[in-house]
Amino acid sequence: MINIALSKGRIFVETLPMLAAAGIVPREDPEKSRKLIIDTNNAGVRLIIIRATDVPTYVQYGAADMGIAGKDVLIEHGGENLYQPLNLKIARCKMMVAAHPAFDYERAVRQGARLRVASKYLTIARDYFSAQGVHVDLIKLYGAMELAPLVKLADVIVDLVSSGGTLKANGLVPVADIMDISARLIVNQAALKLKRAEIQPLLDSFAKAIAAD
Ligand code: ATP
Ligand code: MG
Repeated sequence: MINIALSKGRIFVETLPMLAAAGIVPREDPEKSRKLIIDTNNAGVRLIIIRATDVPTYVQYGAADMGIAGKDVLIEHGGENLYQPLNLKIARCKMMVAAHPAFDYERAVRQGARLRVASKYLTIARDYFSAQGVHVDLIKLYGAMELAPLVKLADVIVDLVSSGGTLKANGLVPVADIMDISARLIVNQAALKLKRAEIQPLLDSFAKAIAAD
């Protein structure tokens, strides 16, 4: 049996065609079902539906043999015990620094001011500003980062941006581009050795299904 860990929402939706390419069709829609384990048409494959940030943890400990997680989530997790064979090129977005237009980011950075940064992605934020030689106070948030500059919790936020619609709706502007993000296939290293015969064909199908660009 192969357990594949996935999160609901965009990762699940964008993974469906890749699963289909491997001949795997879920028996239920996790958006409609409350089940956390979803069987598929393939008796040897089931899907474990968990929070996006928990996917690397399940795979790290082998509770799931493989999973799909954003590069953001993988960097924050640390990636121990995870083999990352494929960039699936789904759930694409950018990690960016954003601020209120009244905040002069360039000037603050130039003057060596200590920046207050709010984010859910503290490792990415810490590494980015340290590489830029910018001193920061990091404030951990779990969501709705756009609010932080508006109520002066922080000078800037580090957040994922795709269309930019959420930033715009809250009157914020991107001020720096940190990295491109997309979802990766992750595999437990022990499972890869012990269940190679089952896992390798899935890897091959996923590799073929990756959007060319
Ligand atoms: P939750 O929304 O349950 O708090 P989450 O934000 O981590 O959890 P999703 O919003 O489903 O979960 O995001 C899952 C992954 O999709 C993220 O880790 C990221 O890699 C990617 N992602 C997030 N936001 C976007 C976006 N706006 N466009 C494209 N991909 C995104
Ligand atoms: Mg989200």
